[in-house]
Amino acid sequence: MATAINYYGRNLNAYRASLHTHSTTSDGQFTPAEVIQLYADNAYDILAFTDHSSANPVSTYDSRGMTLISGMEMHPMGPRGERWHLLALGLPENFPTPDANESATAQSCIDAARAAGGIVFCAHPSYCGFRSSDIAPLRGLEGLEVFNSSTRYAGKGFNMQCWDELLDDGHWMRALAVDDMHQRSDLFCGWTMVLTDEPLSPTSVMRALRRGDFYATQGPQLLSVSLHDGVLEAEFTPCTEVIGISWKWRGYPAVCDNFTGPGDGQREITSCRLTLKNDIKECWLRLQLKDRHGRYAWCNPVRFN
Ligand SMILES: [Zn+2]
Ligand SMILES: [Zn+2]
Repeated sequence: MATAINYYGRNLNAYRASLHTHSTTSDGQFTPAEVIQLYADNAYDILAFTDHSSANPVSTYDSRGMTLISGMEMHPMGPRGERWHLLALGLPENFPTPDANESATAQSCIDAARAAGGIVFCAHPSYCGFRSSDIAPLRGLEGLEVFNSSTRYAGKGFNMQCWDELLDDGHWMRALAVDDMHQRSDLFCGWTMVLTDEPLSPTSVMRALRRGDFYATQGPQLLSVSLHDGVLEAEFTPCTEVIGISWKWRGYPAVCDNFTGPGDGQREITSCRLTLKNDIKECWLRLQLKDRHGRYAWCNPVRFN
């Protein structure tokens, strides 16, 4: 079920997407049909199957009204003996496992996925112990997971610091929030809103992801966002903390009646207007929202340089 959003001057529809899920094709608890049922019953529009080193024949599944995306989590060997977890979306259903060969590298897997028409995100870097300096040399990454539900048990569900370090160093990363669903306790804690004015299809979903027309959330919804003459304005469902985050100490907490800075976690606002200083023009800005339940939403960054 789509909701309307004005996204930098374009009237788009926002669709709820689960973009990192496992099934019994790898180590998930549920069969593909059960995974589809769980997400369809909870108002999702888009569901990607991303089993470990295995594609799924998603076009043969009963989608229950959702748009199904073919993907794979790829695991070439990475730094310090840890395997990468690379989330590839938009792959052919017969995509061969590119990490089957032990000589496969993160770069060769990213290149193979992109050559097959896919896009690739770095999954849960902090959980793997991967640092921004490990990710920075990789070419062709679309972004990373800013939140991953299944890794929160280890206290490593969030990846904001890694994201900001990469942005600081000029790596243009966008962010997903995902369940990485293996079992019931992973469900519905983080998802991605895909923004498009086209009818939903695998092609239109991939086009929106490539354009960066999406945002990550655990609950808060973005209703509009605009940037004109150094002023960022946004409307959203009630939130208690709204910050335009930028380079180093630069940040723009939303300021309004009785609400300054990070807020007290109680007072709610539904819009913000951030007047950006001139030095922002040399870097980037991303809007981060938090609601009274502590649930975040993360907009993709705006680049000024
Ligand atoms: Zn993983
Ligand atoms: Zn996974």
